[in-house]
This record gives sequence, C-alpha cells and structure tokens, in this order.
Amino acid sequence: MSHDVSRRSFFGGIAAALGYLGLGPSTDLFAQQNRPGAAGNAPRMRTSSDDYDTMAHLSSNENCWGPPESVMKAMTNAWKYSNRYGYPDANIVGEIAKHHGVKQENILLGAGSGEILDVVGTTYLLGGKKVLGVEPSYSSVYQHATSIKTTAIKLPLGKDYRQDIPAMIKAANEHASEIGLVYLCNPNNPTGITVTKDEVRQLLDGIPKGMPVLIDEAYHHFVDDPNYATSVPYVIEGRPVIIARTFSKIAALAGMRLGYAVASAEIVQKMRPYSMGSINALVKHGGAAALKDTASQASIKKMVIDLRKKTTSELNAYGYETLPSETNFFMVSIGREIQPVIQEFAKKGVAVGRPFPPMTTHMRVSIGTAEEMDRFTKAFKEIFPAKPKSTAAVEGRIVKSTN
Ligand code: PLP
Repeated sequence: MSHDVSRRSFFGGIAAALGYLGLGPSTDLFAQQNRPGAAGNAPRMRTSSDDYDTMAHLSSNENCWGPPESVMKAMTNAWKYSNRYGYPDANIVGEIAKHHGVKQENILLGAGSGEILDVVGTTYLLGGKKVLGVEPSYSSVYQHATSIKTTAIKLPLGKDYRQDIPAMIKAANEHASEIGLVYLCNPNNPTGITVTKDEVRQLLDGIPKGMPVLIDEAYHHFVDDPNYATSVPYVIEGRPVIIARTFSKIAALAGMRLGYAVASAEIVQKMRPYSMGSINALVKHGGAAALKDTASQASIKKMVIDLRKKTTSELNAYGYETLPSETNFFMVSIGREIQPVIQEFAKKGVAVGRPFPPMTTHMRVSIGTAEEMDRFTKAFKEIFPAKPKSTAAVEGRIVKSTN
C-alpha cells in the first residue's frame, strides 16, 4: 500500500513540476490572461500546495527567505482593516516619496510593478506607437504592446550580452516618429547585467528630446557595481523618465502585489487614469515597514551575493560560463536548447528559468536558499558532464579559462 502511495506521489510530483513550469495542459484562465510562461514573464502557479512546497523555486527571481519579522508584524496588524475602504494606509505614498526625496505627486502605486509597466505602455503606445528596447529583456512591455495592437522595435544585445546604448540611440533617432516609449531594464532581466550610469546619461542625452524612457529598476537593490546608479535623479531633473520599482524582489512581497512609478507630476497625472489604484491594506502596511527595515534588506543582499558567487564559481570550475550578474539570478551557458533541460531539472525537483529567445542555450537561475542552491548544483552535475576546457565568466568580468 505504502508502495502505491509513494509511486502516486512520485509521478504526481513530476506532473506537478511540469505543470508548474507551464509545460503541461492547463485550464487556468487567470494565468492565460497573464500571459504565463511567455519569454520574459513569470510562470504562474498551477500545482497543489504540497507539490509546490517540495520544489526549489529558482525560476521567478523571488526572495526565497520571505518578508522579515518587521514586515510580517505590520501586515498582521493591518488585518483589522480588511473589511474597510477608507482605512489608515501607513502613509505608503508619502513613505515612498520620502524614500526617494520626491513629492507624493511623483508616485503612482500599482499592484506590482507589472501593473506599472502596463500603465506606462498604455499611456504612451495607444494609437499604434512602438516601444523600443532590447531582446532578451523583461518582455512584459513588449507583450502589452501586442495586446494593445502595436509592436516593439527590439534590438539585439551587444558585446558580452550588454545593452547596446549607441544602437538604441541610433534606432530612437531613425524611428523617432514611430516610437512612443523607450524601455530600459536596468539591471537587465534575464542577463542580470547593468547599464552604467554614464551609459544611461548617454542614452537620455542622445535620444530625441521629450521621448519618454521607462527605466525598470526591479533589481536595483541587489547591485554592488559602483558604476551603476538609480535613474531617479533624472525625474527630479525634469526629464521624461519613468522609474518602475517593485516590492516583489528584495522586499519579498511578490505574492502581495505592490510596485510603483516615480515620474514627474505631469506624467503621473497622464498615467493615473489607466491604473487600477487597487492595492490591498496588508501590503500598504508591509511596504511601508519594508522601506524602514534597511538592515533586513542589507542582509538579504549579502546572502544573495554570497550564494550567487558560490554557485557560479562551482559552475565555472565545472567548465560552464556564467554571465556577470548584479542581481538575485544569473545566466549559465549550457550549450544546448534550454526547453528540455527545464524538464530534466523539474524531474529533480528544481524549477529553473524559461527560454529567453534568442538566448535559448542559456539557462536563467534565481538565487534560492543555500540548500536549494546545493540541490541545483547537484542536479546540474547530474544533467551536464564536466567540461575540462572552457570559457568561464566570474563575478564582474568574463575570463578565459585555460585549465
Ligand atoms: N520588472 C522586471 C524586470 C521583473 O523581472 C519583474 C518580475 O519578475 C517585474 C518587473 C514585475 O514584478 P512585479 O509585478 O511582481 O512587481
């Protein structure tokens, strides 16, 4: 009997893992609406909670440790407002504005920064204008453009998988009349590579004056590179720049849905009619607490960077090249198509990233707990052979390995 049960749960687990990754049949209409599994978008949950709990979740760049005590406490205290509309909201907009040194009129809240990306897209692309950006990148804005019956001009990445700023400037000028918006994901997802502060300035100075630029800083908090900086000062300078930020990553509130835009008051007013303005009471309180708990965020950042360095060093020593990430995920070159490999990992209880065309022979791996990263490395070594000679990248630079 126990044999039967374990067989069932074993096969159930594999089916669930494949379902989780969007590889099996699904009747989840909500997920369909959210464009599941599309390149650049997070896969949506489709398993039972038991199956979900046994997987190592290294596919959606989440914070595996969850919210700190301070945030949990703030959210727990906010349950008492769950039956209300006009409740004290922890002054979340004021707290975000204070955090960035801007006014409340410069902040627009969204149910996750995903909503903000859609709102920016609708504001600037309705009527057939195009979004200009690179591929691969976080493709939500490109998909939204398609859903409102327009398109994207997607440029390839340049040398060393970096965003090619001169090429973006050239395209922005050549196609100026068609473009409604430039999208810059910094650091970029899925590569984890930053655009330097000098390059951001070069871009903003080089594109046609007045062309809106959406800078997605979802992974801002993980960056260590001193050549990178937030672009919020450009908003304060009065440039047509919109910064998207999220509480889903370092603040560990992905399931609670809170993000925001920082932009000029004029741009915020233009965007507001397209936003839902429907943020729940718990996350408003949790978000305000998260902004204040800088110690927790510093410790998450350190754990992420340490685990990323450990894991990528092990892969490099095993002969596989990794890209120099500044985020809570990294890419490894696997030398073969990713799609079947995702399934091989899923069978071993590890969920890894989806295909990011045209980089379909790279795998994106999110940083999980130490135990999850050990499971990942073990699975990697079971799936791939050691390569004695390789080109390996180490943190921050690409090196040629000779051993
Ligand atoms: N932007 C980037 C670059 C992302 O990677 C993600 C999620 O993975 C988002 C935005 C959307 O996140 P959320 O809607 O949870 O804020």
